[in-house]
Amino acid sequence: MLKLKCKDAGFDCGFVVKGKTEDEIMQKAAEHAMKDHAMKPEDMTPEMKEKIRKLIHKSWF
Ligand SMILES: [Zn+2]
Repeated sequence: MLKLKCKDAGFDCGFVVKGKTEDEIMQKAAEHAMKDHAMKPEDMTPEMKEKIRKLIHKSWF
């Protein structure tokens, strides 16, 4: 299981994205960011994605 804390991406937010693969996490994180943080698809730049990808960590829970 992989996890990504929204807080680690710089948002004041308790949302945690969970998934089996990095791609799944990226997909869910993008949906969450657009829905709850008013991010636009054009805000998801390659740089932003790379930054977020590095925040994904493994979790056994
Ligand atoms: Zn969030």
